[in-house]
Amino acid sequence: MDLRDFQARMRELYGAKDAARGREATFMYLIEEVGELAEACREPDKHDLPGEFADVLAWLTSLANLHGIDLAQAAIAKYPVLCPRCGASPCVCATKP
Ligand SMILES: [Zn+2]
Repeated sequence: MDLRDFQARMRELYGAKDAARGREATFMYLIEEVGELAEACREPDKHDLPGEFADVLAWLTSLANLHGIDLAQAAIAKYPVLCPRCGASPCVCATKP
């Protein structure tokens, strides 16, 4: 299953609930899940790390559905084969200290 299939599945499963909840509340759930992912990254033995990644992707996808954004298309447009800033692969952009 690729990202476009996943987004379609999420729309099918949760599209009606997402629409009823609305963009603002869905955004808050996404941020809540990002916090849970942060905890899981810090203490992976105490959390379901893969599950937290999946939750963040699921809520991000729900939010994208509410905004009519095709995530796969947006990701490829913004992050093509080469780094959008330096035009190289791998990226050779100067990193901040
Ligand atoms: Zn770069």
